[in-house]
Amino acid sequence: MATPASDLSSRKKASTPSSNPLDLYNVRGLLTEDEQMVQDSVGRMVDDKVIPIIGECFEQHRFPREIVSELADLGLLGVYLKGYGCAGLNAVSYGLICQELERGDSGIRSFVSVQTSLCMYPIYTYGTEAQKQKYLPGMAKGEIIGCFGLTEPHGGSDPANMKTHAKRKGKDWMLNGAKMWITNGSIADIAVVWAMTDEGIRGFIVEKGMKGFSAPEIENKFSLRASVTSSLFFDNVAVPEENVLPGVVGLKGPLSCLTQARFGISWGVIGAAQACLAQMLDYTRSRVLFGRPLANTQAIQIRLADMSRRITTAQLLALQLGRMKEKHEMTPAHVSLAKWNNVRMALDIARDARDMLGGAGISAEYVPIRHMLNLESVITYEGTETVHQLTIGRELTGVSAF
Ligand SMILES: Cc1cc2nc3c(=O)[nH]c(=O)nc-3n(C[C@H](O)[C@H](O)[C@H](O)COP(=O)(O)OP(=O)(O)OC[C@H]3O[C@@H](n4cnc5c(N)ncnc54)[C@H](O)[C@@H]3O)c2cc1C
Repeated sequence: MATPASDLSSRKKASTPSSNPLDLYNVRGLLTEDEQMVQDSVGRMVDDKVIPIIGECFEQHRFPREIVSELADLGLLGVYLKGYGCAGLNAVSYGLICQELERGDSGIRSFVSVQTSLCMYPIYTYGTEAQKQKYLPGMAKGEIIGCFGLTEPHGGSDPANMKTHAKRKGKDWMLNGAKMWITNGSIADIAVVWAMTDEGIRGFIVEKGMKGFSAPEIENKFSLRASVTSSLFFDNVAVPEENVLPGVVGLKGPLSCLTQARFGISWGVIGAAQACLAQMLDYTRSRVLFGRPLANTQAIQIRLADMSRRITTAQLLALQLGRMKEKHEMTPAHVSLAKWNNVRMALDIARDARDMLGGAGISAEYVPIRHMLNLESVITYEGTETVHQLTIGRELTGVSAF
């Protein structure tokens, strides 16, 4: 039946905007009170301490080290581990923490991901009691900073083809080789380094100051400028036996750490996308072109609606992934799907938001270009989009197409 014209005109009147346009399905309502409190306290810290300085840090290519004590005071370093000064929170809380941090900047979330999931997690899971006692409490307090060395210059997508190697020599292991694109590398006190041995790939805790170990920063990055990225070089570094992680041999060691970190990324990028949408809702209401605010045009509303659709889908996906993780039902393929979907969602939103700002979109005054440039790294690190697509393909067909 045709719609009467009078109905159409009444629909043109402004309706009240949704109470929370960044959470249209009230995903927050599915969280426990404790989870909501975690999200709120991290959100306040990000609003007070990260957002006021992060644009400048990005421009200056500076990781804000002063934030580390704030992160530690809130218990965010190693937050889902139990004991050793860690809070033992659940998976969804860890996800929400990543989301709030990345609403500020992917670099801050990267710092926490690496410290927690790529450095503390392997020590906690595969280390000796002495190693846990030695490193984890200091790492939870932010007094010891860690990094994770897996990627090598000749190809990160194929870590099994590892050239860095360690050979037993008396009571030590002699470590030789190079790692590339290592987050926190130059500021780290310890590096969890994965190296080939006669027994297979093993994890080594390399300490800053060990002879033959250097970690120069990679300069001239256009992405993650508020994060430190480095190379690691090992030239006959003598690593004592007590620094070897005894609990794992093989690629499953580093891959299990990446599964933890990718889970956090799947949540984190939702925050970056929300930051872009929030700014677009403001901007398009105040930017007047052709005699009306941009937000009053159909094309812009469709683009905003599409951002909202994609964010909502990502939120629901991340929450279900978190609940599966808590029930120990989460598999690496589940994480691949979430990392692929959610990072792609956030990158597309950041790029579209950048365009909707017109020329202003290239200015650091607005957040989309910073998030967009950061997300170009996030879509590459911890498994490129293609690698995650191929992982799902393998899951569906049972055939590896790598
Ligand atoms: C800012 C930043 C921080 C990082 N932090 C860390 C860190 O802390 N620790 C760490 O170990 N690593 C880190 N990385 C490394 C990151 O994980 C790698 O860059 C990533 O795994 C890709 O490896 P690559 O750069 O060597 O690219 P390559 O592996 O050389 O990939 C190049 C291209 O080939 C594609 N490709 C690969 N295989 C296939 C295939 N079979 N079929 C089709 N296409 C394929 C890829 O998708 C990509 O597009 C970081 C990277 C960046 C940029």
